Amino acid sequence: MTALLEVEDLKVAYGKIQAVKGISFTVEEGQVVTLIGTNGAGKTTTLRTLSGLLKPLSGKITFAGTPLNAVPAHKIVSMGLAHSPEGRRIFPRLTIAENLQLGAFLRKDTAGIQKDIQRAYDLFPILGERRKQAAGTLSGGEQQMLAMGRALMSQPKLLMLDEPSMGLSPIMMQKIMSTIAELKAQGTTILLVEQNAQAALSLADQGHVMEIGSIVLSGTGQELLHDESVRKAYLGED
Ligand code: ATP
Repeated sequence: MTALLEVEDLKVAYGKIQAVKGISFTVEEGQVVTLIGTNGAGKTTTLRTLSGLLKPLSGKITFAGTPLNAVPAHKIVSMGLAHSPEGRRIFPRLTIAENLQLGAFLRKDTAGIQKDIQRAYDLFPILGERRKQAAGTLSGGEQQMLAMGRALMSQPKLLMLDEPSMGLSPIMMQKIMSTIAELKAQGTTILLVEQNAQAALSLADQGHVMEIGSIVLSGTGQELLHDESVRKAYLGED
């Protein structure tokens, strides 16, 4: 089986700083794959490169059988790769409904768009209740829901989530994680970047631990959850 996403020996630099130093991994259709690691490990840089926002120094990215090198970012979205960025980046002055509409900017099927907006409201009822309010009035966790809902509006083949649990209360984090599990159950393929290793690995089919630009350990979510070095470094055990 060919993977939906294949990353081979990817290197990315900001000037002289090499942030990603030759990583390789794949995401199969229907899987949740997670990249975990501390601040500055290169996780966000990896997602931004996959989205076409950063140009790699070298390496190969293949998505749905097509090489992504030299494909512009907007074209990558239309190919089915959606990115819910770190820090959410919603439009605070626009309403919740307008933010969701914007996620469908490449689509013309009005009926399908309405159906998917309803799907976002089903997934996150609070968004439906407050659809006419400015998105900036939502709490951090609710804005995270909106960012995820907006990314889903492009009907992605692969949904990339950058630290969806960042800054959230434990209850909100639980809600976001259970929604990711629900999306997986519905067949969505997800690449999840998280600092919360416990939550991410519990959900993931495959996980990769990144440290200063490299993948230092890979395994199934369960394998990594039970790995002694992961437990010590990322799950706060002695
Ligand atoms: P975080 O969780 O903090 O986002 P991360 O694992 O996603 O961490 P990156 O944000 O990808 O890590 O950062 C990787 C490295 O690249 C870090 O050393 C960081 O300081 C550096 N870096 C990130 N963005 C830039 C930039 N715009 N210019 C220069 N260096 C950068």
